[in-house]
Amino acid sequence: MSANEAAVTKPIPVPDELTAPFWEAANRGVLAIQHCAACERYIHPPEAVCPYCQAQELSFRQVSGRARVYTHTVVRDNITRGFAEGEPYVIGIIELVEQERLVLVANVVGVTPEEVEIGMPLRVTFERLTDDIALPQFEPEEA
Ligand SMILES: [Zn+2]
Repeated sequence: MSANEAAVTKPIPVPDELTAPFWEAANRGVLAIQHCAACERYIHPPEAVCPYCQAQELSFRQVSGRARVYTHTVVRDNITRGFAEGEPYVIGIIELVEQERLVLVANVVGVTPEEVEIGMPLRVTFERLTDDIALPQFEPEEA
């Protein structure tokens, strides 16, 4: 590998005003999801206004990190710079146990692509990308 190739990395998430609490929690190894106190629903990705009841007082709550595979795909030939090294890998639509259709997009790790199936129980894990950013991902939940 040349020096140029070694410098190629995956894009690093850039927190903004809405997503900063999510990333600050993830950096501490905590999965925190925006929550509306008015209608008691979780919201992801974060919004300025509750999409269910239009309330504006939203906060972030720690969730269990338990989830299941809602659906998934296997990436075997990603031409985007920085992603080829880990192929094949699994991108999942991950449904958190706290609320129906409360989903995140994340990698499913610690399992071969062939073993991933819809409904598979998962738990959150964090991949450290930089000193400030840890990426929530999901691995099979141990019995
Ligand atoms: Zn609401």
